[in-house]
Amino acid sequence: MSNIIVRVQSPEGTKRIEVLPSDTISRLYEKVYEAFDLNSFGFNLCKQRSQKEPLTSTRSRTVSGIGLSHGDILYLVPANGTQLWSAPSTSSASNNTSTESGPMDAANGITTRSSSMPRSLSSVVENDIDEQLWKLDGKIQRKRDEKLCRHGARGCCVHCSPLEPFDEIYLKEQNIKHLSFHSYLRKLTAGVDRGKFIQLDDISCRIKTGCKDHPPWPRGICSKCQPNSITLNRQTYRHVDNVMFENASLVERFLNYWRSTGHQRIGYLYGKYEVHSDVPLGIRAVVAAIYEPPQESTKDTIRLLPDEKEALVEELGRTLNLRRVGWIFTDLIADDIKKGTVKHVRNIESHFLSAQECIMAGYFQNRYPNPCRFSPNGYFGSKFVTVCVT
Ligand SMILES: [Zn+2]
Ligand SMILES: [Zn+2]
Repeated sequence: MSNIIVRVQSPEGTKRIEVLPSDTISRLYEKVYEAFDLNSFGFNLCKQRSQKEPLTSTRSRTVSGIGLSHGDILYLVPANGTQLWSAPSTSSASNNTSTESGPMDAANGITTRSSSMPRSLSSVVENDIDEQLWKLDGKIQRKRDEKLCRHGARGCCVHCSPLEPFDEIYLKEQNIKHLSFHSYLRKLTAGVDRGKFIQLDDISCRIKTGCKDHPPWPRGICSKCQPNSITLNRQTYRHVDNVMFENASLVERFLNYWRSTGHQRIGYLYGKYEVHSDVPLGIRAVVAAIYEPPQESTKDTIRLLPDEKEALVEELGRTLNLRRVGWIFTDLIADDIKKGTVKHVRNIESHFLSAQECIMAGYFQNRYPNPCRFSPNGYFGSKFVTVCVT
């Protein structure tokens, strides 16, 4: 089989590329990439100057298979304004990273989120509640066991020594279904390496961009840039273990909207996080106020509207030392209006949250990420709670 030459015309001139008729289209793309000394696979090869049908980079078709022959001309077209050739100045690279940084990073002047260098762990500013919990040893104290302990009142043995906050048997005995987040962190850091290598990352199912080994997705993918596969499991810990309202009238007033209109309602919960002592190293969200933002609702829908007062409300919250800790919404359908009962639609037989409610909860959790010293980008999970009144 003899080599054939195709000419490739680009914005920077034309080059002659030598290929075998048996070369795959992927290989053709690679040869063009090398010949033009490009810095990215963000380009298409087209048979026509009009760029309507780029050749699909694939290993299942060959140069001869798509009818390319000696002397044919192909047009190299950058995809979506990709910079294929290194710019003469070096400024563009540094500009890119700063625009990609997260909003919190920019405010704190910390290294950018997109940087591949792990941020120094001490630079993460965690919530007050986290600082407070780190100061506790979290050990579960036990009394002297009358039956098993054979030592005096001041002694200590395996039957009465304090337990770790993540002790499985203890949690089971106490009917605690989920570890608190800080117990979970203690468990991770309890090993011999003291958690030196822990890295908590939020799950990302995105393709990693910038892979230089092949043309960009969807024309190519490899084990380095494709997202990890995921097995769905119950999360063993939770970020917030309990939600408490400072007084009942808070909720009563919130429910009055439904009582008077029959329409559903959303509110933001303002309050603070405190130590929740029912669970080892637990966190409780204490709600002091419910703010009802502008919204349109019916008996089975709610739509949030733009809120001009949002900044003002946030400012008010700050001066009162309250922060947005979660959201609350109603899903109430009257059953017997005289008795004031409602229908039980959510249960183990049906559902606890609808798909749309899960998406909304996820949206809020992404908006209010949890600062965490073990995360390379400074955040892991969220303390934003969801309360459904049903
Ligand atoms: Zn003992
Ligand atoms: Zn790749």
